Amino acid sequence: MASSVPVGGQSDYRGRFAPSPSGPLHNGSLIAAMASFLDARAHHGRWLLRIEDIDMPRVVPGADRAIMHQLHAMGMHWDEEPVWQSQRLHLYQAAFDKLALAGDVYGCACTRQELPPDGPYPGTCRHGLPEGRQARAWRFRASQGVDHFIDRWHGPQQQDVSAHVGDFIIKRADGLWAYQLVVVVDDGAQGITHIVRGTDLLDSTARQRMLARHLGLEYPSVMHVPLLLDDAGRKLSKQNHAAAMDINRPLDTLNQAWQALGFEALAAQDIDTFWTMALERWANRYGQRQPDPVG
Ligand code: GLU
Repeated sequence: MASSVPVGGQSDYRGRFAPSPSGPLHNGSLIAAMASFLDARAHHGRWLLRIEDIDMPRVVPGADRAIMHQLHAMGMHWDEEPVWQSQRLHLYQAAFDKLALAGDVYGCACTRQELPPDGPYPGTCRHGLPEGRQARAWRFRASQGVDHFIDRWHGPQQQDVSAHVGDFIIKRADGLWAYQLVVVVDDGAQGITHIVRGTDLLDSTARQRMLARHLGLEYPSVMHVPLLLDDAGRKLSKQNHAAAMDINRPLDTLNQAWQALGFEALAAQDIDTFWTMALERWANRYGQRQPDPVG
């Protein structure tokens, strides 16, 4: 039977879900998956799956397949071949080289113990490595000034990256590419127009916008959706052992994420109906979705 849930479509909208395969999806990660999926479908756009397996020490073998299985079980189907960041290292190197050539990157010798626990990077190695020290990590030279942008969930935002974070790491001391760099390179390379993800990443957005500017990439529009918190008020995450989401009771699982997005539970009898109902409500609140063209 043909599904009534629309497939990825005709508009220029390109969204993505970008899980880190450090374990199966839990109810918290489902919220970002659901919101990005609905927003793409509501805008007649495409929804891409990108496996963010760049932080190799945290990757759990088989977690990528488990995530894909979970998404399918929830009726969430991506529109293009998924990509794995571990297979795109050449793209990150090319972006790094471009930034380095422009003088925007420098080697940093500081260990974590040498840095203040919070607050911006003090700029110790900005003008050259201290005597006798070697570069461990590589930092991007943050430009000064306040960046303003609109978040579709939280409204107007601003951040002065140089004051708030300072020069930030784009290649880590263990030789791995940092999340901030790879996410910008991939969103650019994949032509992503809309980012919908968890609010924990709102604070990274100004850094990513800055990198995109320096790489000559257009930065997508952003929407940062709520996180599920555990009883102690911490983000539900694989690190604090959130349980995998229950695919045996998909409607309950879907409704739980849906309510976390601020909607009333849906009395749907099956997964397709859930999505059809959710799409209509999402579009009413966040835009688009007129009837599909006939034929
Ligand atoms: N891989 C990141 C995570 O699982 C998400 C990255 C993003 O959406 O920008 O938290």
